[in-house]
Amino acid sequence: MRLSRYFLPVLRDVPKEAEIASHRLMLRAGMIRQQASGLYSWLPLGYKVLMKVKAIIEEEQNRSGAIELLMPTIQSADLWRESGRYDAYGKEMLRIEDRNEREFLYGPTNEEVITDIFRTYVKSYKDLPLNLYHIQWKFRDELRPRFGTMRSREFLMKDAYSFDLDKDAAVKAYERMFVAYLRTYARMGLTAIPMRADTGPIGGDLSHEFIILADTGESAVFCHRDLLEKPIPSKDTDFRGDLKPIVDDWTSLYAATEEMVDEAAYEAAVPEDKRVSARGIEVGHIFYFGTKYSEPMKATVTGQDGKETTVHMGSYGVGLTRVVPAIIEAFHDDAGIVWPVSVAPFEAVLINLKAGDAECDAACDKLYGELSAAGLDMLYDDRDQPAGSKFATADLVGIPYQIILGPRGLKAGEAEIKHRKSGERETLPIADAVARLK
Ligand code: ATP
Ligand code: MG
Ligand code: MG
Ligand code: MG
Repeated sequence: MRLSRYFLPVLRDVPKEAEIASHRLMLRAGMIRQQASGLYSWLPLGYKVLMKVKAIIEEEQNRSGAIELLMPTIQSADLWRESGRYDAYGKEMLRIEDRNEREFLYGPTNEEVITDIFRTYVKSYKDLPLNLYHIQWKFRDELRPRFGTMRSREFLMKDAYSFDLDKDAAVKAYERMFVAYLRTYARMGLTAIPMRADTGPIGGDLSHEFIILADTGESAVFCHRDLLEKPIPSKDTDFRGDLKPIVDDWTSLYAATEEMVDEAAYEAAVPEDKRVSARGIEVGHIFYFGTKYSEPMKATVTGQDGKETTVHMGSYGVGLTRVVPAIIEAFHDDAGIVWPVSVAPFEAVLINLKAGDAECDAACDKLYGELSAAGLDMLYDDRDQPAGSKFATADLVGIPYQIILGPRGLKAGEAEIKHRKSGERETLPIADAVARLK
């Protein structure tokens, strides 16, 4: 992508409404634009990151055996009356009436809709286990939208729903999601710790929140330090096999959010030098809630014995539009964002130090073509701008590698590569740049 033809509205000044680093940086780097309280447009650079996050989530959901579909954002109030949640949900729900005075709502979550789909089509135990997910916009009329897309009113969520014949099978589905979540956040460079959590309005009795430690986090959390170093289950994990040992291993160390913590139990379970009492960001939440929705909504299958059995369900959410600022909270410095390569909007930026100079343009154009052809997702700063401003932009938007080429390097046949994270610089023959970055 040539920067001269791109849409990257970088801001020079720090917007004063932004209280935390990720919100400031997302505005400065031209990633988002607030349209109204808690409602954001995702500008091209931000949208690219969001789509990289989405692709990782999809890969890991699919690997675990979950199946993607898409449900609408607008839902019928009648379905929510069936589950009994329409009145209970309260003011966070945005209620809508159509021209025929029929009642609808903008979905804050999808248990009712997915249960309706399930009961329509699935009739036999032979079709279980089943886990269906989608990645769709949600709306919750938050009392206090803040920190940019960290707590917005409209936000993008991945929500998966599992259906099983009984509790044992449902717990296995829960374990598959537990492991998939560990892998998902790790691939984004994040250390997300599963912590025992309250189930809130979703209901149920088994639940973990996945928490990123950050001083700006909204919840107080308590855990064993060793959880921060625990190796993540590998890509070859057999999701059809027994995952209980992995989940038991992770949950054997104390970790709980403020709603669930028991001070005495925490102190008894964790030696003093291993205690982490910190702030955290909830980037995901998984629940097993049994027959809470399947019972009132009559989601049943015929069991092996020929009897009608109410299915056991779980739901599993990840807030994509919260994960993006959470990554920035974890990875930034004074100059800007420092993206992990897996979610970086571009893998590398080629900086032409003397745009307008025929020789320099020709060499940079050629290198840009070669890097792109090698499969690198490239940004090419071909603008006629002072070098200092180009470096500042490249640092601010956080692209992992900067390839710098100007007339002096060209004469020597050399380019420079700067690693955004370490600040380390290396000089190498221009001809070696592609091989070095591939
Ligand atoms: P919170 O405690 O932050 O209000 P929640 O517990 O209400 O979140 P869940 O119902 O568990 O949220 O939804 C699943 C995930 O959706 C959360 O773990 C979070 O990552 C994301 N999420 C929830 N509310 C918001 C929001 N207002 N803005 C952005 N992401 C959100
Ligand atoms: Mg909430
Ligand atoms: Mg919560
Ligand atoms: Mg939650």
